[in-house]
Amino acid sequence: MTSRRLLLVEDEPSLARTLGDRLAAEGYEVEVAGDGPSGQRLAADGSFDLVLLDVNLPGKNGFDVCRDLRQGGTSTPILMLTARNELVDRVLGLKLGADDYLAKPFETLELLARVEALLRRSRAEASAAASAAAPLQSYRFGNIRVDFDSAQVWRIDDGGSESELACSALEYRLLRFLIEHRGQVHDRDRLLDEVWGYDATPTTRTVDVHVSSLRQKVEPNPGRPAFIVTVHGLGYRFDG
Ligand code: CA
Repeated sequence: MTSRRLLLVEDEPSLARTLGDRLAAEGYEVEVAGDGPSGQRLAADGSFDLVLLDVNLPGKNGFDVCRDLRQGGTSTPILMLTARNELVDRVLGLKLGADDYLAKPFETLELLARVEALLRRSRAEASAAASAAAPLQSYRFGNIRVDFDSAQVWRIDDGGSESELACSALEYRLLRFLIEHRGQVHDRDRLLDEVWGYDATPTTRTVDVHVSSLRQKVEPNPGRPAFIVTVHGLGYRFDG
């Protein structure tokens, strides 16, 4: 794993040196800025994994730097450091978009623990965002596999071999929509809007007809649907 890059915005040279050395000894790559404007400029370039931001800084205080970074779209985690141990500072810092807050004087071990926790959290968030953004390529439920790249639906037999199920374009779109929104109840009007489109003028009965034909193809027992279930009085829900 590549080393994590930290930006330390701290105007007190001895503290900047001590902290910088300690963080470097822990394996972090550390860059130091000695005033608000240069700290903000460096932080905004986005290549840091974490910003340690002092509050009392020459040129521009840490609160203003933090607020302007967030307003400018920088999402790098920010740990605020301040000499003033007042609740109002803590609340203000977090309100302006800081992720955590540490009052001076602090134990170095405490700082290291906070740094690690913030980096862990932002990594977890980044990987969750990446998997949420990745489009589904295929989806399997029961003995059915839907291939979203080729828009094909396959039935898998007991021996594991697949045969293609012939679905109409509307059946496929309906199935895909249900899978992509699995666990949610959709009333017939919503399905008409999402699958048929606003321009079409079919009736809600059309939805029932297509759901029924889709069940014939993908449900093991279409008379007692296990995947495309009816939610009485509300609509349909995919439970695969
Ligand atoms: Ca300071």
